[in-house]
This record gives sequence, C-alpha cells and structure tokens, in this order.
Amino acid sequence: MIEIDGSEGEGGGQVVRNACALSLVTGEAVRIFNVRGGRSKPGLMRQHVTAIEAACTIGGGVCDGLHVGSSEVKFWPGRVTPGEYRFAVGTAGSTGLVLQTVLLPLLLADAPSTLVLEGGTHNMLAPPFEFIERCFLPVVRAMGGHVAVRLVRHGFYPRGGGRIEVIVAPSRLTPIERVARGELTGVSACALFAGLPFDIAGSEIAVVRDSLGWSERECFVRELPVDQGPGNILLLEANFEHGTEIVSGFAQLGVRAERVAKTAVGRMRGYLASDAFAGPYLADQLLLPMALAGGGVFTTVRPSEHARTAAAVIERFTGRRTRFDPVEKGVHHVSVG
Ligand code: AMP
Repeated sequence: MIEIDGSEGEGGGQVVRNACALSLVTGEAVRIFNVRGGRSKPGLMRQHVTAIEAACTIGGGVCDGLHVGSSEVKFWPGRVTPGEYRFAVGTAGSTGLVLQTVLLPLLLADAPSTLVLEGGTHNMLAPPFEFIERCFLPVVRAMGGHVAVRLVRHGFYPRGGGRIEVIVAPSRLTPIERVARGELTGVSACALFAGLPFDIAGSEIAVVRDSLGWSERECFVRELPVDQGPGNILLLEANFEHGTEIVSGFAQLGVRAERVAKTAVGRMRGYLASDAFAGPYLADQLLLPMALAGGGVFTTVRPSEHARTAAAVIERFTGRRTRFDPVEKGVHHVSVG
C-alpha cells in the first residue's frame, strides 16, 4: 500500500483526487494521512468525499475513513467499470474536481461511459467549466482522449445546482509536446452573471477594456436566468494556434467588481507577457494525463506548488519523474516521465 502524507507540498484536495485516479489506473492501494494538512480547515470536505465516492463507484473500490472532516483515508481499488453514472456534489462543491478524479480511469477503460455531475460549475479554487472545455480537454484530445463535455446548467457557490454531462470513449493516450503556443489568434472577455445587478458585469468589462485595450467586439456580458444565480464570474480567454488559456475572476461578497476584474487582468497580462504554453492551473492538471500517456513535454509559467505536488504523487504510483527546468523569461520546460 502506497502511503502519502497529505500535508506535504501543496497539501490540498488535489493530492486526494490524483491519488484515487492513480490508484484506479495502477491497481495500487493507497493510504493518505494528514489529509489536506496544508489547508486552514484540514480534512475531507463534502466535495472531496463525493470525489472519492465517485472513484469507489466507477472502480469497484473500497474506502476506509470516508467522511467529512476525516484526516485519514485508505482506498483499495477494484476494476474500473465503464457505464452511466451520476454524481451529485451536494452544495456547490466543484463538478470539475469530481471530473478530475474519474476522467482518466474512465478514458482508459474498455467501453464508453456517460457521466452526469451536479454541483458547482463555477467555483473559486477550481477549474470553471469553460477552462475544462477549452483549455484542458483539447490537450487531452490531442493525446488521443475521446471525451466530450456539455454544460447543462450553471451552478455558483453557495447555491450550486449546476449540471454538466460528459461522454467518454475508450482511448489510447500517447505522449505529445506543447512547447510553443504559436501566434495569438484571438482574445475575449465574458462577464457571466445571474441574479445580480447588471452593473457588476458592466464594471468588470469596463476594467478589461480600459486595462487590456480589448475591443467592444471582444468583450461581452452574458446574463443567465435568475434561478441559476446568484453568481458572477469574469472569464478572460486568449486563443493561440496550439492552445487556449482562460483566467477567471471570481466574484465574492464584499469584493468590488473592479477588484475582481483587476486581479483577472493582472493574471492575463502575466500570461500574455510570457511565452509559455500552459498557465499555472493547466500545468498542474496536465501532469496526470501526460504521465498516463507515458510521457509528455510542455512549457509553463513558474511551476506552482500544485504542479510540484502532483508530480510527486504521480511519481509514487508510476515511477515517472517530472522535471521542471527554467528556460527564459520565467518560462519553464516541463517533461513528464
Ligand atoms: P486543490 O486546491 O488541491 O483542491 O486543487 C485545485 C485544483 O483546481 C487544481 O488542479 C487547480 O489547477 C485547479 N484550479 C483552481 N483554480 C483554478 C482556476 N481559476 N482555473 C483553472 N483551474 C483552477
């Protein structure tokens, strides 16, 4: 049984999700102690419990210590069974993070699956739906992954109620290289909101136009039906020949719309100023599929603690080592396995 100290490195939920996915794919049982030991409220939260439950369900796994607040879990994997599954995260826990847990095991299974995931689709500290759809999955598809996603209904914290549908077909993943991102082919800003004053989204767009100089045509506001709110997110997207980056500004109670927008703008500026293929979030998320594809190479901005921690967990299960080598202008060359 592989033993993982969940407080090491980033010390968050990603350790748990990656460990479950890797356990299902490799057949190695795992014990994680000090679960989310790096967080101010350590232990499993509802969304982590759902993610592990999902891993047990699709993989015939057995788990010990699976409850909210738990600081130690043991996971014995079974055989991954493709099929039709529905997982509800309950409150507004992230559907995207549940998908992170089960996607790779299902892709590598021998028959198709459909997944319905209910919960949050646009949560802080998690990939928003558009990021999964337009940044992460295109790279997985380039590796040979057959996967389609659809957003049926938006869900924002704290109400949740969102729904995404995912179709996965058996895939053979192969290593790819994403070193150069190519020419910039387009940018866009979308201020998405539901059940909140229009002014919030309007102010966000004004900041984007003012600070990034993006044109009226490139910036828009999208109002969702009131019952999908309240919620607001600003999505800034940059399309390149070989990939897409989306940075988000998550609205928070008590934080002015201008500040939310300025934070997102700062992140987009940082990314545009570098020559890297992957932004910080995409970098940590690509390591698992690349390791399971047998390797891969890409460039990124300065590697996050999430990325280094993901690399350490992956190495424990697969023996594949990830190297992060600085090249120039803050760009790092990442090679998996
Ligand atoms: P953890 O903090 O350990 O629960 O992991 C959070 C996961 O969500 C990591 O895989 C991050 O890359 C991802 N993530 C967090 N924020 C964003 C964001 N704004 N855009 C895309 N992915 C994100």
